[in-house]
Amino acid sequence: MLRGADLRVTRPRLAVLHAVHGNPHANTDSIIGAVRDDLGEVSHQAVYDVLRALTAAGLVRRIEPAGSVARYEARVGDNHHHVVCRSCGAIADVDCAVGYTPCLTAADDSGYDILEAEVIYWGRCPECQSTSETGEKDRRV
Ligand SMILES: [Zn+2]
Ligand SMILES: [Zn+2]
Repeated sequence: MLRGADLRVTRPRLAVLHAVHGNPHANTDSIIGAVRDDLGEVSHQAVYDVLRALTAAGLVRRIEPAGSVARYEARVGDNHHHVVCRSCGAIADVDCAVGYTPCLTAADDSGYDILEAEVIYWGRCPECQSTSETGEKDRRV
């Protein structure tokens, strides 16, 4: 992947790519944790720099839902969307509603060359739903 993107293959780059593949939608802190498990001590700055290079090369996609820190994922190039849990911040992938990137066909593009459509669905994840249901039952008792 790195060679395909004309990036020099370095151990930090491999480790960061590996971490992003293994932890979809991970934030920088958990990526740093995973990279350190792999390589030992690595500076925050080194990981930030690698993430920036990988994002610029299109190997990694950066998403930043409102109120959340930046998250990274290796699923690139399909313009999928995300559903974010309002309670705990969990994130899951949501495919485009119909076919391949139909959202890129804006009803009125105002003359812009549209490159990306970003849709974020906000809700509550199954885990948080079941926790609050239990909570309500407890209160009734
Ligand atoms: Zn949740
Ligand atoms: Zn995703």
